[in-house]
Amino acid sequence: MVVGKPIFTVEQIQGRVRELAEVISNDYEGKNLLAVGILRGAFMFLSDLVRAIQVPLTVDFVVAGSYMKESTTGEVKVYYDVREDVKERDVLLVEDIVDTGITLNHIRERMLLKRPRSLKICTLLDKKEKRLVDIPLDYVGFQIPNEFVVGYGLDYDNRYRNLPYIAAFRKTI
Ligand code: 5GP
Repeated sequence: MVVGKPIFTVEQIQGRVRELAEVISNDYEGKNLLAVGILRGAFMFLSDLVRAIQVPLTVDFVVAGSYMKESTTGEVKVYYDVREDVKERDVLLVEDIVDTGITLNHIRERMLLKRPRSLKICTLLDKKEKRLVDIPLDYVGFQIPNEFVVGYGLDYDNRYRNLPYIAAFRKTI
């Protein structure tokens, strides 16, 4: 198994996180921000992002996982849901990567049932080519081609999450 050279270096990621945080800080001035990280992949992005956001906020989490059946519909399981009451809150879902969009769409619809005042999505990576569900992304760190990546929270078989950069990953045979 081979981890390639960084696609996004530590400096590039940290720079982009600061830019996103600045825009989010402006957009959420005077609002009731609840940042919801989608675990496990988003843990590193979430912790850097919230440290750079300069308006008051609360942090909560959703733990979700998806697996593909024979068809491309995918099945999403939520293992842990937010504990915060989201009514009257301005919820920002924070995701590591949007691929087919199935996971995030499921979490978004589930969150909307709780009737937040507003709901937006922030993802570090957007793999647009593979999208099956059209989902509005409000804040995007980087667009990436259809390539499997690891690092900065993203795993292969639960490894490589601790890499501080993002790299392409290829299984060697
Ligand atoms: P979805 O297809 O539902 O948009 O994405 C489901 C999940 O697949 C993501 O939250 C992420 O955990 C995982 N995923 C999608 N693309 C990649 C990738 O390139 N690398 C890694 N490590 N995980 C990915």
